[in-house]
Amino acid sequence: MKSLKIRLELNNKQKTLALKHAGVARHAYNWGLDVCNKAFENKEKRPTGIDLHKKLVAEVKSKYDWYYEVSKCAPQQALRDLDTGFQRFFKKVSKYPKFKKKGRKDSFYLEGNIEVKKNRIKLPHFGWIKLSEKIKDVKNIKNVSISRQADFWFVSFKMEHQTQKIRFKKHSFVGVDLGIKTLATLSNGMTFENRRPYKIYKRKLKIEQRKLSKKFQKGKKEQSKNYYKQQKIVAKLHYKIACIREDALHKLTSYLSKNHEKIAIEDLNVKGMSKNHKLSSAILDGGFYEFRRQLTYKCEWYGSKLVVVNRFFASSKICSNCGHKKENLTLKDRVYHCEKCGLRIDRDLNASVNLAKQVVS
Ligand SMILES: [Zn+2]
Repeated sequence: MKSLKIRLELNNKQKTLALKHAGVARHAYNWGLDVCNKAFENKEKRPTGIDLHKKLVAEVKSKYDWYYEVSKCAPQQALRDLDTGFQRFFKKVSKYPKFKKKGRKDSFYLEGNIEVKKNRIKLPHFGWIKLSEKIKDVKNIKNVSISRQADFWFVSFKMEHQTQKIRFKKHSFVGVDLGIKTLATLSNGMTFENRRPYKIYKRKLKIEQRKLSKKFQKGKKEQSKNYYKQQKIVAKLHYKIACIREDALHKLTSYLSKNHEKIAIEDLNVKGMSKNHKLSSAILDGGFYEFRRQLTYKCEWYGSKLVVVNRFFASSKICSNCGHKKENLTLKDRVYHCEKCGLRIDRDLNASVNLAKQVVS
């Protein structure tokens, strides 16, 4: 069993419904926490998740219409979560449960008739929802949890993965160098470029962000209507860019995992990179984590092997021909020139070949 987390593309109606579910889950959780707090004050036994749910159905639900607009799983699981929270507190694993605030870690749970077809998922109460990526038909999903990060909603569930074994060509090893200008350079000479719309939207985003900061009024609690309008424009652009980037990464990770027995990538430590601001933002922006996430599960699907090479391995400094290490290589050097054997090679290609060599041996 492994778990998968995928972004949902909700329409407006579904978004409203998701907010309602998250709202009910939060309300039930906070109500339950209040009941438990009072029980402690009165030196009574703490009610369990089941006790709380019974009490909720008997005393609370009928007071609020919106409880009937959502799946009964949402409040039920929220109370179960609260129960787990208390158990963890008494085992000294976590802190005392806190009240949940609106908009912070919104989430809820659903179970029942769930289906997945290519890039759609069917959920109780919601019907068919578009997924941001295609997944293989998965059966027997019993429950899902839905959560929100910024303006994006995600679905998570556990699935049994069946490996679709591909017969790879023998010795089909490949090294991948992720870059700033080029999305990826492969040791077989192939390159994956950042797509044009991506660049166009990136430029647009800069302009719109500048407009936003001009509209910001310092020291004011409430900003102008125009400010919030502009904020929406910026958020939409962020979303578009994220979609384009994800799409490009899917093409890359599918190609890699379907055609190679072993794939070598570098373990880029973003924290260590932050000294070099330009490079680190490019790595974050290029979605290194997203790249690795996709590649990891696709390698499992197709039966290829992902090798993550130690980040102290100097893939760009070593000559892929003779092994000489060039200490004075700077980021500006786009071409690697080896003083020892005379090799002249694109810097990223040199790095990817070095990575590929790591899986051959
Ligand atoms: Zn050399």
